[in-house]
Amino acid sequence: MPYQHILVAVDLTEECDPVIQRARDLSVSNGAKLSLVHIVEPMAMAFGGDVPMDLSQLQQQQFDQAKERLEKLIVKYPELTRENSHLSYGQPRQEIHHLAKEQACDLVVVGSHGRHGLALLLGSTANDLLHGAHCDTLAVRLKRAE
Ligand code: AMP
Repeated sequence: MPYQHILVAVDLTEECDPVIQRARDLSVSNGAKLSLVHIVEPMAMAFGGDVPMDLSQLQQQQFDQAKERLEKLIVKYPELTRENSHLSYGQPRQEIHHLAKEQACDLVVVGSHGRHGLALLLGSTANDLLHGAHCDTLAVRLKRAE
Protein backbone atom coordinates (compact mmCIF):
# COMPACT_ATOMS: atom_id res chain seq x y z
CA MET A 1 0.00 0.00 0.00
CA PRO A 2 1.55 3.33 -0.96
CA TYR A 3 1.61 6.13 1.61
CA GLN A 4 -1.14 8.67 1.17
CA HIS A 5 -0.18 11.56 3.40
CA ILE A 6 3.40 12.24 4.49
CA LEU A 7 4.20 14.70 7.28
CA VAL A 8 7.74 16.05 7.42
CA ALA A 9 8.83 17.58 10.74
CA VAL A 10 11.58 20.19 10.50
CA ASP A 11 13.69 22.07 13.04
CA LEU A 12 14.22 24.91 10.50
CA THR A 13 18.02 24.65 10.64
CA GLU A 14 20.08 24.13 7.46
CA GLU A 15 19.94 20.41 8.33
CA CYS A 16 16.29 20.20 7.37
CA ASP A 17 17.01 20.11 3.60
CA PRO A 18 17.90 16.38 3.37
CA VAL A 19 14.83 15.56 5.49
CA ILE A 20 12.49 17.55 3.24
CA GLN A 21 14.11 16.12 0.10
CA ARG A 22 13.60 12.54 1.34
CA ALA A 23 9.96 13.25 2.25
CA ARG A 24 9.39 14.99 -1.09
CA ASP A 25 10.89 12.05 -3.05
CA LEU A 26 8.68 9.63 -1.11
CA SER A 27 5.60 11.74 -1.73
CA VAL A 28 6.33 11.75 -5.47
CA SER A 29 6.99 7.99 -5.67
CA ASN A 30 3.91 7.17 -3.55
CA GLY A 31 1.66 9.79 -5.10
CA ALA A 32 1.13 11.07 -1.54
CA LYS A 33 0.14 14.46 -0.20
CA LEU A 34 3.03 16.26 1.53
CA SER A 35 2.64 18.36 4.68
CA LEU A 36 5.25 20.08 6.82
CA VAL A 37 5.35 21.02 10.48
CA HIS A 38 7.57 22.98 12.83
CA ILE A 39 6.95 23.25 16.55
CA VAL A 40 8.02 26.32 18.46
CA GLU A 41 8.94 25.18 21.94
CA PRO A 42 7.94 27.35 24.90
CA MET A 43 11.03 29.16 26.16
CA ALA A 44 10.23 28.39 29.78
CA MET A 45 10.43 24.69 28.79
CA ALA A 46 13.91 25.20 27.28
CA PHE A 47 15.07 26.98 30.45
CA GLY A 48 13.59 24.24 32.61
CA GLY A 49 10.45 25.71 34.10
CA ASP A 50 10.50 28.69 36.42
CA VAL A 51 12.12 31.72 34.83
CA PRO A 52 11.80 34.94 36.83
CA MET A 53 11.18 37.18 33.81
CA ASP A 54 8.60 37.85 31.15
CA LEU A 55 9.51 35.81 28.07
CA SER A 56 6.45 36.72 25.98
CA GLN A 57 8.26 39.24 23.77
CA LEU A 58 11.16 36.86 23.13
CA GLN A 59 8.68 34.10 22.47
CA GLN A 60 6.86 36.24 19.89
CA GLN A 61 10.19 37.00 18.17
CA GLN A 62 10.96 33.29 18.07
CA PHE A 63 7.55 32.59 16.52
CA ASP A 64 7.97 35.37 13.90
CA GLN A 65 11.44 34.09 13.00
CA ALA A 66 10.07 30.55 12.58
CA LYS A 67 7.31 31.90 10.33
CA GLU A 68 9.89 33.65 8.12
CA ARG A 69 12.02 30.50 7.84
CA LEU A 70 8.98 28.40 7.03
CA GLU A 71 8.01 30.86 4.32
CA LYS A 72 11.50 30.54 2.77
CA LEU A 73 11.09 26.75 2.65
CA ILE A 74 7.72 27.09 0.93
CA VAL A 75 9.34 29.28 -1.72
CA LYS A 76 12.29 26.89 -2.07
CA TYR A 77 10.21 23.71 -2.40
CA PRO A 78 7.26 24.10 -4.78
CA GLU A 79 5.81 20.80 -3.47
CA LEU A 80 5.13 22.55 -0.15
CA THR A 81 2.12 24.81 0.13
CA ARG A 82 1.15 27.38 2.72
CA GLU A 83 -2.06 25.46 3.32
CA ASN A 84 -0.14 22.25 4.15
CA SER A 85 2.57 23.92 6.26
CA HIS A 86 1.89 24.08 9.98
CA LEU A 87 3.48 26.10 12.73
CA SER A 88 2.47 25.05 16.23
CA TYR A 89 3.47 25.90 19.74
CA GLY A 90 4.27 23.29 22.37
CA GLN A 91 6.21 20.10 22.93
CA PRO A 92 7.42 18.56 19.60
CA ARG A 93 6.42 14.93 20.24
CA GLN A 94 2.96 15.81 21.50
CA GLU A 95 2.22 18.36 18.77
CA ILE A 96 3.61 16.27 15.89
CA HIS A 97 1.63 13.21 16.99
CA HIS A 98 -1.48 15.33 17.38
CA LEU A 99 -1.15 16.88 13.92
CA ALA A 100 -0.32 13.53 12.26
CA LYS A 101 -3.49 12.05 13.76
CA GLU A 102 -5.66 15.05 12.97
CA GLN A 103 -4.46 15.17 9.36
CA ALA A 104 -4.64 11.36 8.94
CA CYS A 105 -0.95 11.13 7.99
CA ASP A 106 0.38 7.62 7.47
CA LEU A 107 4.09 8.49 7.54
CA VAL A 108 6.07 10.99 9.61
CA VAL A 109 9.58 11.85 8.38
CA VAL A 110 12.19 13.32 10.75
CA GLY A 111 15.94 13.78 10.83
CA SER A 112 18.18 11.71 13.09
CA HIS A 113 21.76 12.21 14.15
CA GLY A 114 22.09 8.55 15.10
CA ARG A 115 23.19 9.48 18.60
CA HIS A 116 24.76 6.90 20.84
CA GLY A 117 26.27 6.72 24.32
CA LEU A 118 25.61 9.67 26.60
CA ALA A 119 24.06 11.74 23.83
CA LEU A 120 21.39 9.06 23.39
CA LEU A 121 20.53 9.30 27.08
CA LEU A 122 19.92 13.01 26.60
CA GLY A 123 17.31 12.05 24.03
CA SER A 124 16.46 13.10 20.50
CA THR A 125 13.29 14.19 18.78
CA ALA A 126 13.41 11.14 16.46
CA ASN A 127 13.58 8.74 19.44
CA ASP A 128 10.96 10.68 21.27
CA LEU A 129 8.58 10.52 18.30
CA LEU A 130 8.75 6.73 18.09
CA HIS A 131 7.09 6.51 21.49
CA GLY A 132 3.35 6.45 21.04
CA ALA A 133 3.53 6.94 17.25
CA HIS A 134 0.19 6.34 15.53
CA CYS A 135 1.76 5.72 12.13
CA ASP A 136 5.06 4.77 10.47
CA THR A 137 7.98 7.02 11.36
CA LEU A 138 11.04 7.38 9.17
CA ALA A 139 14.27 8.73 10.67
CA VAL A 140 16.50 10.19 7.94
CA ARG A 141 20.15 9.85 8.92
CA LEU A 142 21.81 13.26 9.10
CA LYS A 143 25.54 13.58 8.76
CA ARG A 144 27.19 16.07 11.07
CA ALA A 145 29.78 18.39 9.51
CA GLU A 146 33.17 17.18 10.82
P1 AMP B 1 17.00 16.58 17.19
O1 AMP B 1 16.67 15.31 17.84
O2 AMP B 1 16.56 17.79 17.96
O3 AMP B 1 18.41 16.64 16.75
O4 AMP B 1 16.11 16.69 15.86
C1 AMP B 1 16.05 15.65 14.95
C2 AMP B 1 14.90 15.90 13.98
O5 AMP B 1 13.68 16.08 14.71
C3 AMP B 1 15.02 17.15 13.11
O6 AMP B 1 15.82 16.91 11.96
C4 AMP B 1 13.56 17.37 12.75
O7 AMP B 1 13.16 16.47 11.74
C5 AMP B 1 12.85 17.00 14.05
N1 AMP B 1 12.65 18.17 14.93
C6 AMP B 1 13.47 18.64 15.90
N2 AMP B 1 12.97 19.72 16.51
C7 AMP B 1 11.78 19.97 15.90
C8 AMP B 1 10.76 20.97 16.05
N3 AMP B 1 10.86 21.92 16.97
N4 AMP B 1 9.68 20.92 15.24
C9 AMP B 1 9.56 19.93 14.31
N5 AMP B 1 10.48 18.97 14.12
C10 AMP B 1 11.58 18.98 14.89
